Amino acid sequence: MTDIYYKLPRRHKQLLLALMIVMGILLLLPSENASASRSQTPSDSLKIATRYAAPIEFTAQPVKNSLLNPPVKSTQEAPVAAVKATEDDSSEEKLTWQQVKVKSGDNLALIFNRAGFSANTLHKITSLGDKTKILTKIMPGQIINFGANQQHQLIKLTYQENITTTLEITNLAGKFSAKKMTRELQIRERMVSAEITSNFWNAAIEHQLDPSTIMNLANIFEWDIDFGLDIRAGDQFSLIYETKYLDGMAVKTGNIVAAEFINRGQSYQAIRAANGEYYSATGRSMRKAFLRSPVNFKYISSSFNPRRLHPVTKRVRPHNGIDYAAKTGTPVRASGAGVVIAAGYTKYNGNYIFIKHGERYVTKYLHLSKKLVRKGNRVKQGQRIGKVGSTGRVTGAHLHYEFLVNGVHRNPRTVKLPKSRSIAKKDKSGFLKLANQRMEQLATNKRIMLAQQ
Ligand SMILES: [Zn+2]
Repeated sequence: MTDIYYKLPRRHKQLLLALMIVMGILLLLPSENASASRSQTPSDSLKIATRYAAPIEFTAQPVKNSLLNPPVKSTQEAPVAAVKATEDDSSEEKLTWQQVKVKSGDNLALIFNRAGFSANTLHKITSLGDKTKILTKIMPGQIINFGANQQHQLIKLTYQENITTTLEITNLAGKFSAKKMTRELQIRERMVSAEITSNFWNAAIEHQLDPSTIMNLANIFEWDIDFGLDIRAGDQFSLIYETKYLDGMAVKTGNIVAAEFINRGQSYQAIRAANGEYYSATGRSMRKAFLRSPVNFKYISSSFNPRRLHPVTKRVRPHNGIDYAAKTGTPVRASGAGVVIAAGYTKYNGNYIFIKHGERYVTKYLHLSKKLVRKGNRVKQGQRIGKVGSTGRVTGAHLHYEFLVNGVHRNPRTVKLPKSRSIAKKDKSGFLKLANQRMEQLATNKRIMLAQQ
């Protein structure tokens, strides 16, 4: 998961993260208590950072201890604290729990005050060091559980940092200690084989793939297949990917470990090696000098329409280049690493960028609404260089993309490109063995699944 996760574009990371947090909260907190933090704003007579004994604004609900403190494997606790905590549990007096939901604009001082605990208590907790630092980064919607004794002293505080990690702060006779409890996820593999009838995205969704896995699958093959324009009915894909479980429930997806994509009769295969990179079954890197498409397929309107028409002239076959119909503002990425040799404006091209890749290759990007690089800039593969627009002689927003080899226009979707690197010699025999197993697994599963459809 993590490797792919870090390779994902920022927007996806944010989405994924948000999704995980939401899932974590939904799965791990009892929903009937999730609204228990509804709080009236304290009346103006109450002062900040002052402790009030009277139950002011919370409908404090006792929460079953087992829900908040599920049996967990504690990995980071100090041995002494662990023993004490366990001993203490049996003799512990009954705690009254309240859940406080973090509001926008909240900070710990406000939250502790709302929960009826003193600034001094908060100070003791924040001075516990690194483990409690996470509390200073709380986000609206998150929940902090406070367990107080009859004297309304804070005895326990728990905070679910993420799906697997819970911070627990315990007050033993006035002395606070913090520990983190981590639960391990079980990884299981899932296999999917599908045939595309309308478009790639729909086929993937129909087979219960989640958006991040769909994007990852496209990212693995984006050097070979233009997912915006090349996908046809009858194409097939198969993959094996990891799903992570917590208490028997799937909580997130992990890496794709092997995949095959058959695009217009041509089969592409990729296996994840131990280094986290993907290689073909013969050990060639899936990463190549050029991406097939300078626009991510998710932005391409025609990727949802198998019979694409030229967005401007309504021809099916474009001219010297390829047109990608996408909304104004859609990111345009450099298909390969290189140097910007021109960035300017003409009446026909509108805003344009030309990039030179080594001695033989030049790529051109026209009609941009915005240029994000200048002449002379070095660009990395996949770097955002501009935004789709409708400048120049066009009637609708699209990216016009050209690919030149030795000064001659070539079809970027079919042109033969330089071979990619091979897997390191020392890893090769191990990888080929793994690749064989994976391909066999995929083939078997595909036979079964496609026979059922
Ligand atoms: Zn064009």
